[in-house]
Amino acid sequence: MERLNTVIQTIASRKTKQRSPLCAYVYDLEGLRAHTASLSAPLPPSVQLFYAVKANADEHILKTVAPHVTGFEVASGGELQKVRRLFSDAPVIFGGPGKTDEELIAALEARVALIHIESLWELQRLSWIAAERQTTARVLLRVNLRQAASGATLHMAGKPTQFGIDERHIAEAIYIALALPSVDLQGFHFHSMSNHTDEQAHLSFIETCLSFVAQAEKTYRRPFSVVNVGGGVGIHYSDPDRPFHWDWFAKELNLLLRRHASRHWTVIFELGRLITAHSGYYAAEVLDLKNNYGTYFAILRGGTHHLRLPAAWKMNHPFLIIPVNEWPYPFDRPSLFNERVTLAGELCTPNDVLARDVPCARLRVGDIVLFRCAGAYGWDISHHDFLSHPHPEFIYLEPST
Ligand SMILES: *Cc1c(COP(=O)(O)O)cnc(C)c1O
Repeated sequence: MERLNTVIQTIASRKTKQRSPLCAYVYDLEGLRAHTASLSAPLPPSVQLFYAVKANADEHILKTVAPHVTGFEVASGGELQKVRRLFSDAPVIFGGPGKTDEELIAALEARVALIHIESLWELQRLSWIAAERQTTARVLLRVNLRQAASGATLHMAGKPTQFGIDERHIAEAIYIALALPSVDLQGFHFHSMSNHTDEQAHLSFIETCLSFVAQAEKTYRRPFSVVNVGGGVGIHYSDPDRPFHWDWFAKELNLLLRRHASRHWTVIFELGRLITAHSGYYAAEVLDLKNNYGTYFAILRGGTHHLRLPAAWKMNHPFLIIPVNEWPYPFDRPSLFNERVTLAGELCTPNDVLARDVPCARLRVGDIVLFRCAGAYGWDISHHDFLSHPHPEFIYLEPST
């Protein structure tokens, strides 16, 4: 799946051509193309795969993913514009808390396929806006399930959060939606978690979603057509070679749908992390190496202003070392062998740490640390300009045609 050697060679050869410290994101578009195709291929025809743009909104990424997904899930007017500039007709789902009137109008004008409703007030506001424009908005109600699966890194449901509509208020929302003239209630949206790595538990979560919709059809004596189970499928940051067993998952999903889904339902996934995480790498050269009070610190050209995820999650980001043998200075090279080291960035804050106290066979000033799994929620969630250091380069490994 990952083309690690190609990425390592690209970085190593780039370094031979430059004296200044290297700092770069590498996006392996060929790897991304193959991976996205392999995610959509085993899905049954009643299942649609959307890409959740917020995981990585880089244009090259969007263009590479596009042929292998049904469409895009966007969570702001800005993401909507980005997608529409590149793809005038691709199906788009518009979601996210706190939609403004301007964003709802833009979504209607952009002819989005579905709008996810986050509250009763938003539902009424959308119907009013759609009525003014003599159109009808196709909507899903976002349900904050009382019982959503546990075991993911982030949870948006199953506990009080700002997301979706409390399951206990859904009956009221359905009555209002069915009574409002300018919204067309198509079904429900259940995005509840992020970075869920347990295949079996994720299937159980989907089963909960299907039962919810089956029960709603009984209670309201009307069919619904869309069951959006959201994103949230995860990767193993602590063991990046361990995959989420997607082929097995897709086969089991097929069986689950045969048992529990109505034929007239379309099931939607809107995946972010699983699509792009493994296709992005962040390379940062070691600028300094020292031992303070018994702990080794490597200072990198770069840091959490480029890759904030490990700081946000208080985790060690997976990495490997690309050795660089050239050493231009006429003094000894600062080096460590078989020690634990903390990988810090160039910012003036002790929070600028990408991995803490991790074992390392050899690390020298001038070597390059290559962080893996940096293609989702990497550059996109980072605060690029704190301290005004230069941005990283962006290197794209083009897809083969
Ligand atoms: C962020 C988000 C996604 C994508 O989540 P991943 O964990 O990256 O798969 C999908 N749907 C909604 C509503 C989101 O907010």
